[in-house]
Amino acid sequence: MKIGDKTVDSILENYFHLDGGAMFGVTPKVIWAKLTPSDENNLIRLDLNPLLIRSGKNNIVVDTGFGDVLDEKQKKIYPLGGPTRWDDELARHSLKPDDITAVILTHAHADHAMGALRLGVDGKPQLRFPRAKIYIQKREWKDAMNPNERTSATYLVDKLRVLEESGKLELVNGDTEIFPGISVMVPGGHTPGSQAIIIDGGGERIIYPADIMPLQLMQMTRFISSFVTRLTEFTNMPLISRIGMWSMKPLTDHSLVIFLSKNSYMIVILGQEMLSPQLN
Ligand SMILES: [Zn+2]
Repeated sequence: MKIGDKTVDSILENYFHLDGGAMFGVTPKVIWAKLTPSDENNLIRLDLNPLLIRSGKNNIVVDTGFGDVLDEKQKKIYPLGGPTRWDDELARHSLKPDDITAVILTHAHADHAMGALRLGVDGKPQLRFPRAKIYIQKREWKDAMNPNERTSATYLVDKLRVLEESGKLELVNGDTEIFPGISVMVPGGHTPGSQAIIIDGGGERIIYPADIMPLQLMQMTRFISSFVTRLTEFTNMPLISRIGMWSMKPLTDHSLVIFLSKNSYMIVILGQEMLSPQLN
């Protein structure tokens, strides 16, 4: 999709399965089961949809999926659909990993950050995009490198350390414009340091909220997943009030939704985990 002088594409890195009950928090299954299918183990499918932004000489990746660095135990916790599709997806856009100049991570959970790594020939994780600087909120990085009992299954410190030791990390503080027309916003949601990405161009705007609003259904604010740090404080409400939307309609099956705000026309990509039952 073109937005001003930028081209924005959705990547299908992989998909995985997660407990439907956990994804819908306190919402009873009799309600969410009408909206999304689950299998005999109560699992629902979630796609991993990073963004690729091309702007001048910059090739920017937003979020990275799971990649291929999970160990056997981690693969049991997060059953992946198949091998990472990163190389295929880049090739589809005539790019190679070396062509990526920046990676912006919305947060450091494994399903968003581990694709920034790939397994080297020595079997050890190394940078997937060796030339890219990696942008993430300072608060998120601090929390990720000091996980607690509740967060240690998704903040994989030993692997995140590879990113830290690469010297490529750029820790940012709060709402900031990182590149012309490409900003980050910390609305408070999902984790204290999660950032949404805002892309402006030609009078249009794309918002990529990632897990602050992980499913299209969560535009309805009563649906809040359990995967938030403190349930009562971190919901999608601050994001919704800040982007000021009042109506929406689906543009495609699983990735795009148009939000109409009071004073501007916004195209919002809801990612990175989106239900796409039609791909099952
Ligand atoms: Zn997350």
